[in-house]
Parts: sequence; C-alpha cells; structure tokens
Amino acid sequence: MFIDTHAHLQDALKIRLDEVIQNAKLNNVQKIICASYDLSSSYDAVNISTKYEGVFVAIGVHPENCEEYNDEIEQKLEKLCENKKVIAIGEIGLDYHYTKQNKDVQKQVFIRQIKLADRLNLPVVIHTRDAIGDTLEIVEKYKQYFRHGGVFHCFHGSIEVLNKIIKLGFYVSYGGAITFSNANSLREVVKATPVERLLTETDCPYMAPVPLRGTENEPKNIPIIAQKISEIKNIEINNLEKILEENTKKIYKI
Ligand SMILES: [Zn+2]
Repeated sequence: MFIDTHAHLQDALKIRLDEVIQNAKLNNVQKIICASYDLSSSYDAVNISTKYEGVFVAIGVHPENCEEYNDEIEQKLEKLCENKKVIAIGEIGLDYHYTKQNKDVQKQVFIRQIKLADRLNLPVVIHTRDAIGDTLEIVEKYKQYFRHGGVFHCFHGSIEVLNKIIKLGFYVSYGGAITFSNANSLREVVKATPVERLLTETDCPYMAPVPLRGTENEPKNIPIIAQKISEIKNIEINNLEKILEENTKKIYKI
C-alpha cells in the first residue's frame, strides 16, 4: 500500500471527504496522516479519524499560529492524545517566511511541543521554512527529547542539512515539489537521502504534483510522487512501496 504521511483534510477537502478517501483507496493509498496546525484543526483531525479507519492524526500548533499557544492549549492537546488515532505531534517548527517578528515565541512554542511529544511518547512532524539554521540549532540542542524520533516534512533543504538531520536520526518526507520542472537540486537531495529514511506525503490540498499542478491536491496523488522517487533512486516501484510502508510503520507505528 501507499501512505500519505502528511495531508490536511480539515479544510478545503472536508466538504467532499468521502470522495477524497475513496479516490485514495482506488489508488492504493490506504493510510493517511492528517496533520494539524492549531487547536481547532487538531480537534477536526481527530473527528475525521474516528469516521475513517485509515486516517491517523498529528496534532499541534504550527509556527504561524504560535501566538495562540499557552498552558491551556497544551493541556487540551495532551488530553486529545488519549485518542489512539493520534500518533504524532505536528506540524510544529519555525517559519520565518511571512514574519520574523516573533522568532522568540516561535522557538519557545517549538521547544514546548518537542517536550510535549517526548512526554507523550510520540514522534514530531517538523515544518521549517526560511529558518533552517535556527531549526537545526534547536533539534541539536534538544536531541534528548527525540526518543520517539521525528520527520522533516516537505523537506527542501540542502544536502548538507540533509546529512545533519539524517545523522540526528530524523526521517525525511517528500511531496509534489520533487516533480516540479525547476526542482533539479531538490531531486539531488532525494537521491542523497538514505532509502530507509524516506517517506511520502502530499501536503494536500497544496502542492499538487506534475502533471496535476494547479488542481486541488489529494492523497490519491501519492503514487505519482512515489513513482518520481523510484526514478530518482532507481528502485523498482513495488519494492519502493514496501520500503516506504515499512519506514512509516517504524516512525509512526501505523
Ligand atoms: Zn502541512
């Protein structure tokens, strides 16, 4: 089976979720991890997962929403983790693309959620954008809190950064961006990623792969991304499918 390890089913796709899940199944995408970005999307994701057997959940507060994070939200997240479908904390991290004004708050909230994941025995899903230096500094400094590992989602860093996060034990997830015509350097990074650390994701509804760019992305598009990885790494697709499934099982226990 194929697995979408990072999908946002809470918003645009929510209005036609039966169809989206059905499309995924028809394309052999049997498991989907629904990633959250604030408290309300975390509740939403858990609700969706109770309705659809193959849907699992990552809950957490994205750096763009870091200002809302407080003790009360953390307690609510902790309570939500009692649900067996919650299998990770994410997406969390640093994003300086839209604002650099609240770097300290972003860092604090990132660190708090790294510690939360450790307390709850869960892996983390890391989002980093225009902030790789500070992200690396934090994951290196707090590496004792990653007993249950973590994933850099939608990875687009350099080979040098890749090597550092691989050494720290992280998994690396790739999405539709690896199919874009201007993504040669990213494809080199995919090539350099050890196969036992690879994961696939859509990050839907964003980032539809070629040749579907401009359409609403869905978990059903995972085989297109896997096919691209199979070409880049020169691994036969059926073999890669098994490896990706095994990797997902190891990090997310699903
Ligand atoms: Zn995402």
